[in-house]
Amino acid sequence: MEFKNFPMVSKVVFGRGCFSATGDIIEPQRINPEAPFVFLVDDVFENRDSLISRIPLKGNDKIMFVSTEHEPKTQVVDQISSDLKNDYEAVSGIIGIGGGSMLDMAKAVDLMLTNPGSSADYQGWDLVKNPGIYHVGIPTLAGTGAEVSRTTVLSGPERKLGMNSDYTPFHQIVLDPELIKNAPKNQRFYTGMDCYIHCVESLTGTYLNAFSKSYGDKAMELCEEVFLEKDVWDDDSDDKLMMASYHGGMSIAYSQVGVAHAVSYGLSFLLGTKHGIGNCIVFDQLEEFYPEGVRKFKAMVDKHEIDIPKNICAGLSDDDFEKMIDVALFLEPLWENALGKNWRDTITRKKLRDMYETM
Ligand code: NAD
Ligand code: ZN
Repeated sequence: MEFKNFPMVSKVVFGRGCFSATGDIIEPQRINPEAPFVFLVDDVFENRDSLISRIPLKGNDKIMFVSTEHEPKTQVVDQISSDLKNDYEAVSGIIGIGGGSMLDMAKAVDLMLTNPGSSADYQGWDLVKNPGIYHVGIPTLAGTGAEVSRTTVLSGPERKLGMNSDYTPFHQIVLDPELIKNAPKNQRFYTGMDCYIHCVESLTGTYLNAFSKSYGDKAMELCEEVFLEKDVWDDDSDDKLMMASYHGGMSIAYSQVGVAHAVSYGLSFLLGTKHGIGNCIVFDQLEEFYPEGVRKFKAMVDKHEIDIPKNICAGLSDDDFEKMIDVALFLEPLWENALGKNWRDTITRKKLRDMYETM
């Protein structure tokens, strides 16, 4: 029996408006007056003064706007971290503000300030050699659980895989539900469903245990409340979705995700399909594996009048399908969690091809 001994986020502040406390929270971590805090901010906020004007800048502190048109790439991580190393003798901390993409970008840039080579060298499990510097995550979307996880998912030259390490989790997270309030409805749904799917995959998986179940049950209850039971989306919904994301992340920390994530990584690698929407496209077709979860998912889609794209695999070549199948099959722990040790009896290349063709 292998026991996971995993680090958790050291400090958490929660509450509407708590973003205002960021300056006071980070200041004691300043190394010296010259060493800046660097805020990596999703460029969707570039012209949103209501957020940008509240970022607490002092001395050499700096805001860098980063595009999330594509999910984080190793190349971009390497570029930003090498620029920072060239520009400053020391950096006091990295603060990521955005959805899962920007939280992951912040975690990865942080680690590459203190580890040699390319971030692609560290895609995998426990390859990171040195602790990063002080890093803080401030989510503006809720669902991925990236705020609590021990990984940062990157697309590299060869694979899409996280830098999973004990040094990856944030030292501090700032959970302010006001920051997720104005997310576009579709995006809120897709990212929210990432959380819901984490719950289904964790709670029905063979790796399930009381630790994961306690967090998964709570996250599931919150997702059902906000996406199925309530008739209006209000502040209370944002509060609850933010906590659902946190609990969903904690649930998979001690279990694993499953079929939807394995298949969706294939779509993402080949077609660039983003994580939230990709999971929805896949999950919509997974009645066979998750009958109850998919039934409720479809009810949520109907209730919120969300379009789930269809036929995105139409017109792909045999080679394309083979690539997606390779990516999906590489994720062995996900399949084992979903279907048990004999998962290969069910999940053949032919089966995966048939599944992708329905999407
Ligand atoms: P995202 O960060 O990719 O953002 C999606 C879109 O929403 C972007 O266009 C962004 O600009 C916009 N956006 C974000 N916040 C907004 C706001 N408040 N208002 C308006 N627009 C806003 O989306 P996501 O679903 O949060 O994150 C997906 C990423 O998270 C993927 O890269 C995935 O690999 C990663 N992920 C990481 C983990 C982990 O444990 N590290 C887990 C799951 C997913
Ligand atoms: Zn996910």
